[in-house]
Amino acid sequence: MRVITSSKEMQQFALQTRAEGKTIGFVPTMGFLHEGHAGLMKEAKKTTDVNIVSVFVNPTQFGPNEDFETYPRDFDRDLALVTNEGMDVLFFPEVSEIYSENDLIELHVTNRTDVLCGTSRPGHFDGVVTVLTKLFHLVQPSVVYFGMKDAQQVAVVEGLIKTLHFPIEVKRVATIREEDGLAKSSRNVRLSEAERKEAPLIYEMLSWGRGLIESGEVPLDVAEQDIKQRLADHLKLGQIDYLQLLSYPELLPVKGKPEGDLILAVAVFYKNARLIDNIIIDLGGR
Ligand code: AMP
Repeated sequence: MRVITSSKEMQQFALQTRAEGKTIGFVPTMGFLHEGHAGLMKEAKKTTDVNIVSVFVNPTQFGPNEDFETYPRDFDRDLALVTNEGMDVLFFPEVSEIYSENDLIELHVTNRTDVLCGTSRPGHFDGVVTVLTKLFHLVQPSVVYFGMKDAQQVAVVEGLIKTLHFPIEVKRVATIREEDGLAKSSRNVRLSEAERKEAPLIYEMLSWGRGLIESGEVPLDVAEQDIKQRLADHLKLGQIDYLQLLSYPELLPVKGKPEGDLILAVAVFYKNARLIDNIIIDLGGR
């Protein structure tokens, strides 16, 4: 496996690979890799000829009071995991390889960001699409792999690719969970023992919520309130940031008997970590 740290070398490698007629799979990450990331890599191995993982903690997607400086990092462990998954390249650039003081352009997302993490983390998705656009130009992917744990990110990336006409396919990959249901996340290491014990409640309540919504016993807006209340009643250490039921991937309010997919999405604050999770529900017009 090859480690590339220079943007120029990354792009040369990618252009050469594409010129040879091979497809490129790309898994962008912020590192501190776990089995959730490995799930994306396994999917890439099945689908694309040459597979590239990036590890880059992107400063522009963190707010001023967020955890950019303290975001967990462990390059040696990441290198071992990426090698073990049989990836071809690990792209590991310094910030100065991606951003320059002379940059002229920052992208701004105009849709799908006035809800969920878009409201809680102003500017977050602008940073995400700005870095992804740069990375797409460096890595020249045919297919990009994103985890549904960050379902709003998937919705925004699909919009980015469509809006800017990138010739790239997006593969949505299912959330990988711990045995007790907690979604795997690099930030889980920041939970105290007691918080870690409580955190599986989040997915438990989402699953209970799915049952309530699918039963059709109460209108959708009532169901949303009931699920939020039930989660609030059960959480002793965590605080709900949001819990919302929306259409997916449009992320619009739902009314009546929706035809397409719905997302029940939640974010919970613990002392040193904010956890997110979601469930996609297909009511099929019921
Ligand atoms: P991150 O390193 O947190 O930016 O995540 C990089 C990619 O891995 C994103 O597409 C995430 O959605 C995905 N990912 C993170 N955790 C999981 C998980 N538990 N299951 C599936 N995908 C995940």
